[in-house]
Amino acid sequence: MRGSGQPDRLVVIGGGISGLSSAFYLLREAEKRGRDIQITIVDPAGRLGGKINTLKRDDFVIERGPDSFLARKNAIIDLAWDLGIEQELVGTNPAAKKSYILHKGKLHPMPPGLVLGIPTEISPFLKSGLISWGGKLRALLDFVLPARKEESDEALGDFLSRRLGDQMMERVAEPLLAGIYAGDLRKLSLQATFPQFRDAERKHRSLIRGMSANRRLAPAVAASASRLPASVRGSMFLTFKGGLTTMIEALDHALSGAERRIGVKAAAFRPNDPDEREESGRNAETEPEAGQTDGQAQPWAPYDILLSDGEIIQADGIVITAPAYDAAELLEPHMDTQALRAINYVSVANVVMAFNKRDIAEDFKGSGFVIPRSEGTTITACTWTSTKWLHSSPDDKVLLRCYIGRSGDEEVVDLPDSQLEDAVRRDIRDIMGITAVPLFTEITRLHKSMPQYPVGHVQQIAALRARMSAKLPGVWVTGAAFDGVGLPDCIRQGREAASRVYDAITKRK
Ligand code: FAD
Repeated sequence: MRGSGQPDRLVVIGGGISGLSSAFYLLREAEKRGRDIQITIVDPAGRLGGKINTLKRDDFVIERGPDSFLARKNAIIDLAWDLGIEQELVGTNPAAKKSYILHKGKLHPMPPGLVLGIPTEISPFLKSGLISWGGKLRALLDFVLPARKEESDEALGDFLSRRLGDQMMERVAEPLLAGIYAGDLRKLSLQATFPQFRDAERKHRSLIRGMSANRRLAPAVAASASRLPASVRGSMFLTFKGGLTTMIEALDHALSGAERRIGVKAAAFRPNDPDEREESGRNAETEPEAGQTDGQAQPWAPYDILLSDGEIIQADGIVITAPAYDAAELLEPHMDTQALRAINYVSVANVVMAFNKRDIAEDFKGSGFVIPRSEGTTITACTWTSTKWLHSSPDDKVLLRCYIGRSGDEEVVDLPDSQLEDAVRRDIRDIMGITAVPLFTEITRLHKSMPQYPVGHVQQIAALRARMSAKLPGVWVTGAAFDGVGLPDCIRQGREAASRVYDAITKRK
């Protein structure tokens, strides 16, 4: 069909990091394969970036959504180089490496050697005041307990309790890991969230031993380190000087040739059967579809996409990067979408407060703290942003970012602003003794924003994709709902989506 000199028409649904990186790598794929391409990006929000949203206010760089990413993940470093923004990368303050956990109202330093909540150094773990002696002994049983034999997936929380005991799970692992998913560990899939835990148990029979071995290997396998500018090497987390929006702006620029439909959503799509078209005497070369407002004849395309403003756009391939519940609406007319409907989303909020440094007695010696559910606070964690990220704030100011809401505790997200601010100020007074009045407060609510991978997620998504490739060739679903919520994971999945969709298109033509 493209022999007619027409470019491949690719439509990317969703303009978050998954959509933009899919679009960027679609361009790369077309270049590699020597094909002409026309990309259209559709997003109902009035801007690109999805969850990524940086606010610049009074010389502060404030993140309303994600604030950084893991430096050891290659996909995002590669993309930064591809976009020419690698020199904009910044690392965390090397003097603020310590982080804390709240226990019985007091901040306890995280024991050194804790990796994703798993102790990989025994001596500091034994000295920590976070866990009772009974809890410590129970955790050490991990060295002798047998490995689980069943192949099937299990809940992350059940796994951690089984290996390390309930106390370690609830006081240490849960607040740390829940920070990533805002989730209930007893409902999250182990295989979809931390498959390395399961591998550690299988290979070493002990989670502690396995994670310790991984930690020793880590420097050797961090291939991305060599690609990092010297100024940021050694930092576990990175962002950009101007905030994460730097990456969105660079992608926007790199995609300047792409068409945009911003402010409208993809309402539905339908496959076109060429035989059916012939039989019904419709000839798209001469007869434009209803809804085609420009009156231009379009060649036949395998898919029509109906936008919320009534426009119909045609596509040879579609990458759907909308959240699972929106993706399910698009796919439901064509197939069973139970795998998407099973992904629950948790609502969260964050409250950022700026202060004059002279008004704050607390001398922050670290990057912040997390809070187990049992502490009963409104906030679930707090980042000492101005200490952790020196670029984020003027020297004479303090910036704090407090997190609200987690699975089972979401109503709090919708408290009126004044009540939310009061609750946060109460918590930071009780925990850190801060009574100063903030210079300003920024509240961001992110409804249904944190996907929770259910037990069995990996298998269910594989089955969904198999059904899709049989029934809807050239259509792919990707994004945070699938194989990792972190920004680097979304980018890696976007790159994979581009190559999958292009493979399907070229096979068909
Ligand atoms: P989104 O950003 O949600 O984009 C999807 C887009 O699809 C949206 O713009 C939406 O408008 C659009 N859309 C929906 N329906 C339609 C439709 N029918 N048609 C067209 N478009 C549609 N990750 C990290 O690595 N580091 C962090 O520090 C971090 N912190 C986080 C903090 C918070 C509060 C949250 C919520 C997430 C955080 N994450 C973090 C995770 C990460 O930000 C997200 O997983 C990632 O940004 C999701 O990108 P996405 O493109 O898949 O989805």
